[in-house]
Amino acid sequence: MLLDAPGKPLRPAELPEPEPSSGELLLRVRACAVCRTDLHIVDGELTRPKLPLVPGHMIVADVVGEERRVGVPWLGWTDGECAYCVADLENLCDRAQFTGYDRDGGFAEYAVADERFCFALPEGYADLEVAPLLCSGLIGYRALRFTGDAPRLGLYGFGASAHIIVQVALHQGRRVFAFTRPGDTEGQEFARELGAEWAGGSDQSPPEELDAAIIFAPVGALVPTALRAVRKAGTVVCAGIHMSDIPAFPYELLWGERVVRSVANLTRRDGEEFLALAPRVPVRTQIRSFALEEANEAIDHLRRGEVHGSAVLQPTVVEQLDRDLRMHLPPDP
Ligand SMILES: [Zn+2]
Ligand SMILES: [Zn+2]
Repeated sequence: MLLDAPGKPLRPAELPEPEPSSGELLLRVRACAVCRTDLHIVDGELTRPKLPLVPGHMIVADVVGEERRVGVPWLGWTDGECAYCVADLENLCDRAQFTGYDRDGGFAEYAVADERFCFALPEGYADLEVAPLLCSGLIGYRALRFTGDAPRLGLYGFGASAHIIVQVALHQGRRVFAFTRPGDTEGQEFARELGAEWAGGSDQSPPEELDAAIIFAPVGALVPTALRAVRKAGTVVCAGIHMSDIPAFPYELLWGERVVRSVANLTRRDGEEFLALAPRVPVRTQIRSFALEEANEAIDHLRRGEVHGSAVLQPTVVEQLDRDLRMHLPPDP
């Protein structure tokens, strides 16, 4: 599925099979989860995608000609030599290339990826289940790390990332307070089912002070809201790649050594750590599957907040092969 220009729907296209360069793998895509970042790219809020572009950066694929399954994340290539790469901050590499943005991604039957940035995937996860771990999971995990050992954690926006991170946070012995769009009682119920001890609208105050909060929703107005909810020296982490403007707020909300910070991209170490941790939790993803050709529909569902958990695309060929195996997958909500 191809993006010709921002603001236009993706279009089905017959492309030649991509050719791997040296150090790259040719991949047959088995599943690719849809991220909020894909929405920002399609809507033109991230302004410099390669065009035309095959989006998609949570790719589960077989290496063509080998018996090996790999995962391809958002970080697709770094130069390995800039000041950030040398300082173990490859997520901030000046020349980084991102999958499904600077490089063609996984909304396709075939893809290529630099082998150094591909992850081995934990066994025991079906292709559809494991795909959301590759961005929603591991960038969420990087955000969670930035909250330190905060015991009372707020999650603003209970979508694909939060539904994974709530499980990791509980596994670490934290207490979780979930905030959804005001009035989204279904989303609040979903959060409580996954173990949040309290769930409410983002217009509500939590029943007690929080030690940290992660904002997954792309809504700048949630920054002062979350600051109001955290204790002195508490941290508010903005986990999305794009956010609407943050409104002015009184300095008093930041006072008391409160911290606001963003999370950008991922390092390979984040991925390795998180993919080792996920089966130990064990993280279970709730997915809603779409055929590859239904990419626009999947994106629209995500935009309207109608997917509880993750939307995952699957090429039709693979979908048919897998039909017999789908019994053990979570049902569509
Ligand atoms: Zn993503
Ligand atoms: Zn670099």
